[in-house]
Amino acid sequence: MNKLRPLDPIDFAPADLVTAPVSATNPATMRAEVADALVALFEAARAEAALELQSQSAYRSYQTQRTIYANGVAANGVDFTDRFSARPGHSEHQTGLAVDIGVPSGECSFDACFGELPAGQWLAENAHRFGFLLRYPDGAQPIVGFDYEPWHFRYIGVELAAEMRAHGIATLEEFFGLPPAPDYAD
Ligand SMILES: [Zn+2]
Repeated sequence: MNKLRPLDPIDFAPADLVTAPVSATNPATMRAEVADALVALFEAARAEAALELQSQSAYRSYQTQRTIYANGVAANGVDFTDRFSARPGHSEHQTGLAVDIGVPSGECSFDACFGELPAGQWLAENAHRFGFLLRYPDGAQPIVGFDYEPWHFRYIGVELAAEMRAHGIATLEEFFGLPPAPDYAD
């Protein structure tokens, strides 16, 4: 899904939401398979690189996203908000497949500088092993619709993540031959 491919129905909610048993600032709610993969990802970061990771935002309902988006528009206007926050029905967080990851100190939380931290660099190199995709890579805004978000990971499964990696393809739009989605249709 992206700015041209909303959820159907627009207020879709997954049926198998659970709370992942990981460090989290907000409830680490996500689909069950994603929670298992996230636990494995965080354990590997600790075991292989002595890095502590934290879930900072996961499942967000249609209603929650509507509130976030409306607040963003009120504070910053539509054009600015659309660069950083999805409209309700268009957020990957509504699928229960997306997780925003940070470090417990809060350093570079939801900031592009997260990509420079050891945690951000380890995730960029290793998340695919656990089925996670860095969904909004640096420089891909004309394709994916959002500025660089080194903290936002979308679960796509280990097989697909490995295949994309093997082919050196960074975005779902390119891998599946979908049209670029730099902005909403309306
Ligand atoms: Zn996110």
